[in-house]
Amino acid sequence: MGIKGENIASIIKSQIENFEYQTELVDIGTVVEVGDGVARIHGLSGVGANELVEFEGGISGIALNLEENVVGAVILGDPLAIKEGTEVRGLGRVAAIPVGENFIGRVVDGLANPIDNKGTIESTQTRPTEVVAPDVASRQEVNVPLQTGVKAIDAMIPIGRGQRELIIGDRSTGKTSIGIDSIINQAKEDVICIYVSIGQKVGKVAQTYGILEQNGAMGHTIIVAANASDPAPMQFLAPYTGCALGEFFMHQGKDVLIVYDDLSKHSWAYRQMSLILKRPPGREAYPGDVFYLHSRLLERAARLSKELGGGSLTALPIIETLAGDVSAYIPTNVISITDGQIYLEPELFNSGSRPAINAGLSVSRVGSTAQTKAMKTVAGRLRLDLAQYRELSTFAQFGTEDLDQSTKSQLERGSKAVEVLKQNHSSPLSIEKQIIILFALTNGYIDDIETNKVQDFETNLYEYMELHHQDLMKSISEQKTIDDEISSKLSNSITEFKKSIA
Ligand code: ATP
Ligand code: MG
Repeated sequence: MGIKGENIASIIKSQIENFEYQTELVDIGTVVEVGDGVARIHGLSGVGANELVEFEGGISGIALNLEENVVGAVILGDPLAIKEGTEVRGLGRVAAIPVGENFIGRVVDGLANPIDNKGTIESTQTRPTEVVAPDVASRQEVNVPLQTGVKAIDAMIPIGRGQRELIIGDRSTGKTSIGIDSIINQAKEDVICIYVSIGQKVGKVAQTYGILEQNGAMGHTIIVAANASDPAPMQFLAPYTGCALGEFFMHQGKDVLIVYDDLSKHSWAYRQMSLILKRPPGREAYPGDVFYLHSRLLERAARLSKELGGGSLTALPIIETLAGDVSAYIPTNVISITDGQIYLEPELFNSGSRPAINAGLSVSRVGSTAQTKAMKTVAGRLRLDLAQYRELSTFAQFGTEDLDQSTKSQLERGSKAVEVLKQNHSSPLSIEKQIIILFALTNGYIDDIETNKVQDFETNLYEYMELHHQDLMKSISEQKTIDDEISSKLSNSITEFKKSIA
């Protein structure tokens, strides 16, 4: 039986009537231009700023410039794999990375992929790399100390858990070392650490890994490394990735320390990306939103409220200055975002005062509420002593014969304080040892020790105390105050020790 003419018409009619429009809306575009790690894409009309896109072949990218007819996206992967005409899909979400406990002890790249040849990292969760920072109601006061183990910092520039403290100084002044020492010191403190390396040479990162490994710090540390040889977008993403990894632990109620080494190179990477994307250059050729780049990152450092578990994320960003110029664009920005800065000086570094912390220019705006009473008692006068010493020593260069006795003794004390605050890298000190040596200093027990013997005095004193006064050391670290009893015990034991070496 054939189909008759009128039947054909009715079949077509009914098919048209019953036709259901079944298609999924996918935002697809095509690459029209590619170069320098940036693709310009036609189409993608529904894509949002910072949205993740996927190029044909699986390489991802981030849409940064939304222009009238094209979208500018940075490529997170091998740019040579992308050609004109390559298809691109919008994924409808911002970049996210896997997170979890298993990352501890590992080295990962700017997108949290392992790069340490130790196999894949099993994770059960992901977190967006960019999130809105906790608001006021989700936070509580910063009042628990984060011990760095560096005498000069714990005594004069105390840092609290949840604080943002900038480490700033010229090249090769010991910036990284302070970050690394702080990480090493957390082994005793139960704080998870993340070291984010941005734009450093691979060799330097390997060296840092070696130091952490040797000092048993990799057991509580994650390294996120976007090296100098990696594309700029990876270097741009690395700190946000590190932060997301840290937030995972913070939201579990744990304390986290994150070191961003360094944000100068981070802003260079961002400037490079922005200029290639043809964004208008502003001051020092940085794009206009470079302040927002760092403020949205550092705002995520927090101490969460009790209801949210009370975890914390302490941030130690590092900034490299050129010829000590702290008034340049990026340094001033980051100084204004953080809660204080540790200022390192090449003159001090070269003259052997290491760590080369300039006590006069360094401040911690919130950490003093977190400092223990014991430390406050012994370190209270230290900053003043040092400041007076610096002032007087300028005059004393011309001879000390004419000076009165009190000035002479101030000079003496100051020079001993400078000596006591010297500390080698990778050897953080426990809080009780710091308190013992500062107690000895501020109570005049070091005044009669020759300046060049102060460091030997210090090491021997620690040894002596560990051998004979374990219980006293324990009560200092537990009570966290110096009452009359501890004070007299300390005086006695130091006098005893001095007799033993006399
Ligand atoms: P860069 O600008 O290259 O990143 P940096 O400011 O991070 O340098 P570091 O790499 O920490 O500086 O230190 C530079 C050198 O000084 C290293 O060789 C390190 O071993 C040494 N150094 C750092 N701190 C101390 C210290 N407290 N005592 C002795 N030497 C130190
Ligand atoms: Mg460094």
